[in-house]
This record gives sequence, C-alpha cells and structure tokens, in this order.
Amino acid sequence: MNKTYFYKTGGVLLIFVSILVSCRITNAEFVSKTENIPYSDFLKLVQEDRFEEVILYPTKIKGVLKSREGKSVTTVRVEDPNLVRELVEHNVKFSAAEGGGGWGQGLFLLWLVPMIIFLILISRLRRGGAGAGGLMSIGKSRATLYIDRDTGVTFDDVAGVEEAKEELKEVIDYLKNPQKYQRLGGKIPKGVLLVGPTGTGKTLLAKAVAGEAKVPFFSISGSAFVEMFVGVGAARVRDLFGQAQEKAPCIIFIDELDALGKVRSLAPIAGGHEEREHTLNQLLIEMDGFDTRKGVIIMAATNRPEILDPALLRPGRFDRHILVDRPDIKGREEILKVHGKNIRLSKDIDLKIIAARTPGFVGADLANVVNEAALLAARRGKAAVEMEDFEEAINRVVAGLEKKQRVMNKKEQEIVAYHELGHAIVAEIVPGADKVHRISIIPRGIAALGYTLQLPTEDRYLLTRSELLDRLAVLLGGRAAEELIFHEVSTGAQNDLERATDIAMSMVREYGMSEKMGPMSFQRRKPQFLELGYSSRESSEETSKEIDIEVKKIILDTYARVKSILQENKGKLQKLAKTLIEKEVIEGEELRKIMSQTISSLGE
Ligand code: ADP
Ligand code: ZN
Repeated sequence: MNKTYFYKTGGVLLIFVSILVSCRITNAEFVSKTENIPYSDFLKLVQEDRFEEVILYPTKIKGVLKSREGKSVTTVRVEDPNLVRELVEHNVKFSAAEGGGGWGQGLFLLWLVPMIIFLILISRLRRGGAGAGGLMSIGKSRATLYIDRDTGVTFDDVAGVEEAKEELKEVIDYLKNPQKYQRLGGKIPKGVLLVGPTGTGKTLLAKAVAGEAKVPFFSISGSAFVEMFVGVGAARVRDLFGQAQEKAPCIIFIDELDALGKVRSLAPIAGGHEEREHTLNQLLIEMDGFDTRKGVIIMAATNRPEILDPALLRPGRFDRHILVDRPDIKGREEILKVHGKNIRLSKDIDLKIIAARTPGFVGADLANVVNEAALLAARRGKAAVEMEDFEEAINRVVAGLEKKQRVMNKKEQEIVAYHELGHAIVAEIVPGADKVHRISIIPRGIAALGYTLQLPTEDRYLLTRSELLDRLAVLLGGRAAEELIFHEVSTGAQNDLERATDIAMSMVREYGMSEKMGPMSFQRRKPQFLELGYSSRESSEETSKEIDIEVKKIILDTYARVKSILQENKGKLQKLAKTLIEKEVIEGEELRKIMSQTISSLGE
C-alpha cells in the first residue's frame, strides 16, 4: 500500500558507486590467501556475523573473517543498496578503498568527496543508533515519505470530531473538483493545520480527506527532517512539493509540524538548529511559491501550536486551523461504534456505558480498549466480547494512561465543572467579555483540566478600562465559584490568577488606568543587547509599593464583584454543573438558554 523511498542512503551510495565506476578504477589484485566466493555467500557470512572487517573496493569486496587468522574472502561487488545497512546492522567494521595503482591526484580528490559524505552518514547513523537502529529508522519510519494512492479511509472511519469534519468538507469538495472553484474564483486554503492532543485522529482525518476526495496522500513526519543530513531536509521538501504537483490534485500531510516548525531562534546557535531552519525556510518558500489552483492542499498536525514559528501561520500558509479535540461522551460512543464493527460484540454490550467510563480518552485509547477487550475475550475462549472484558480492558488502558497523564476522579471532575462554569457565567453576565463558545471538562492534559472557550465577536485593537476589568472578572470567576460552592479553593486556578495579575499589573503600570497612580507608565523594560541610549525608568521603591497596592486593590475589588455575581446566580450555576458533569460539554447556545430561564422555573 505504501511506497517507501529510501532517500539518503540510496542517494549517497549512488553517488559513491557512480563516481567510482566513472573513474574506472582498476582493481587491486587480492592477496593469494583469499578465497573467491559468490555474493550470496558473502551476504550470508555478514548475516552470520562472521566478519572482522570488510573493505569495499569499486568492483570487489574483501572480507576478513573473525577468528581464523588473516583468512579472508573476496566477492565480486553486486550493486546492492542494502549492503551498507546490513553491515551497520551487524556491526561490521567496514571501509572503502581504492582499487590498485594508477591513482592521480585528481582522482583521489574525486574519491574524497563521497568518502566524507559517507563518513558523515555513518556517524549520524551511529548516533541515532539505539532501538531500531540508525540506518533502519532512517530508511523506514522517520524519514520516509509515504505515498498512498488510495488511503481507503473515509469519514465513516473517523468519529467524534464532527466539527472538524464539517470544516474539512469544503477541502474535499475542492479536491474533487478544483476547476469548479477556479471558475468561481473561490479562495481555497493552502494550508490546513489540525491542532489537538495526540491520538485524537488528526492523521486519520487527513487520510480520510484524501480518501473521500479520492486523491493521493503524501505524508511525512516533521521529526524526520530533524534527523536529516546537511542540505537534505530542504532538498527533500523541494522534492516533495515537486512530486505532489505532478500528482495534483492531492494532499501533502506533515505530521508533527512542531518538530520542523519550532520558532526560529534569533541568534542561531552554532550547528544543530540550522539544518531545521533551512528546511523550514524551504517549506515556507514552497508554500508561497505554489499555486493552490493546481489542487495541492497541505495539511499538517501538531499538538503544540504555541511553539510554532509565527511565519508558518501567516495568511497563505497554515492559515486555517481546525481543532481536533478530545471526544466528549457522545463522541467516544461513536468512536467505540467504529472500532466495535471489527469485532464480535455480545448482545449485552452497551457502548454508552463504556463511553461514560472513559472520560479523557482519545480515539487511539478507545481503539486500544476495543482491541484489548477482544484479546481478553479470545484468551478466555469466548464466542463474543462481553462487558466484563471491556471493564478489564478499560482498567488496563487506564493503568497505562495513569503513568502518562492523570485521569480525573469524580470529586475533581465536580470541582472542575464548577470552576469552568464560574468563568462562563461571569463571561455571560459582564458586558465587556467575549461570548462563551463552549465549556468542557474533558481533561486535556496536566495544566488545564477543563476549559471555557470564548470567541471574540469582532477583532479588537483597543480595550477600555471597563473591558479589561470585565476580562479580569472572567478570569477570577473560576476561583470564586470554587469558593462559593466548596468553601475551599484548589490549585486549579493558578494559571487564571497569573493572567489576572498580569492584566491588573499592566493596567496600573503600562496603561495608566489606576486613579491613584494617574496616567503614567511605569513599565519596566530591559535594555536590548547593545542598545544605545537606553534609559531605564525604574520606579522608586516607594512607587513600586504603591503600584503593588493598586494592583491588589483592582484584583480584590473585582473578586468581590465576581463573587456577588455568582452568589446571585447560584441556582443556575448548580443546574448547569449537573448538566456539565453529565455531558462533559456545554455549548454556548445551551448555556445562554439555561441562563435566560428564570430561577423559579429551575425549581428553586
Ligand atoms: P493523531 O494523528 O491525532 O495523533 P491518529 O490519527 O494517528 O492520531 O490516531 C491513531 C489511531 O487511533 C487511528 O488510526 C484510529 O485507529 C484511532 N483513532 C483516533 N482518533 C479516532 C477517531 N476520531 N475516530 C476513530 N478512530 C480514531
Ligand atoms: Zn480557570
């Protein structure tokens, strides 16, 4: 299904061999002690680890056998791209040598170039050595460009990510019929960035887009470029785009874009990053240079959008972002349905219950659960997978996950629900905050256990004082709700408090928004390197104290305001919390509906 391209290894060997051949180097006469054997026998000896050392001549190979002193064999050299890999894998010491006399100075230089490349190649491979082994991993997983003529994946195989699918429909439509769009002059995104935690189905989605549109799927992983040799990453990018344009319409998918697209350092540190930067630059050049109308769409995936180089996200590049989040309870049920199709389920299986028991699981985890359950049932000699197999499979997967990330318990889930609703309710009530788009308590990682997503209704360039205070209020809403309901606070608000303090600080120090301090800026800025004429405007100790008092006052006043807002809406808060814990997600619309109901109709 996948066609694998051996890039560098093949390339280097080719240069190597071709230069040697073009030199028409005559062979050295081998010492008489040696025995001539067929190439196949030679290979077998390599695989049996029999060689002490191997010397590669242009048209012959000489191998010195272990143990038997001085005994060696020769064979006629067959052009075998796997030879070097074989040798590395079996830890054979090997080198290349020129064949016999008659070497001119020029020839020697010709020799040197491939030799050096070759040595670099080998040393890199050694370094990447552990596990699957350097050369192997270069040839196979990491640096491989996969081309799937037909991924065979459709939207039916991807579940629980309806919003993302909806957004991608346009892309499919376009790939199916680029001419139609050209005629209408519609603008099509060049780059689509799928953002979300690992295992949520980003790769699967990209494949499904290719499958639905019935176009070829080129894929490569960003981390593959990092292991590349000098100049190869950029060449590979050029090559990738060249190939893709020939096969258009098609999709190029770059997994782990962050590995390649990390923010470029301002002062390049010697070596190391430079290669990645060349590659990244080449990617930017290719993206700018090619014409979408040809029908090539570049998709990429990342779970760390925040570290991406902003240049990648500019208009005309990856300017379309699609969130592929952890699935909610309904989504999990759908995903279980997809994977459950491949196994025989007993009649008592209720996928809804399994979905309810697996909060925070991503698609990959759920696929794992289904697979594990099927294996357990098979081991127990059952005709179909039963509920108890699933129970145990979940426990196993949870145990595995707990090592990697935490899974929330009931009490924590409740605290997070109230916390997020605190943000949301305040955001709905204060006039200067962005509207709530969605509240979720599906755990997303260690830092944020839940989230409240607010979307601005318009782009803003200026914020007034009261708007800033309203934003501050929203940030404090989480902590205030916890205190109101549990009479106790948790560590969950750390990030909120940090951001709230930042806002209050800026108001006082930068924007001159505190009455007491007046319209003055006390912003402290560090001098840039070698910045001439920099005058520091350090405030006096006394002023610093006053600033701190003002910041504190802003925060405490706002906190009091937030608490009274939540106190007034306590009934709604409790009702919403019940819904949120049950469904894990509340959309903005629904929030507003419940909020607009009167307390009496809520039965309070
Ligand atoms: P990502 O690229 O986001 O890390 P993958 O697409 O590689 O995740 O997902 C790995 C596997 O997990 C998929 O091949 C599929 O079997 C399963 N999976 C993940 N997400 C989903 C989903 N939304 N629906 C169905 N299966 C999924
Ligand atoms: Zn919060």
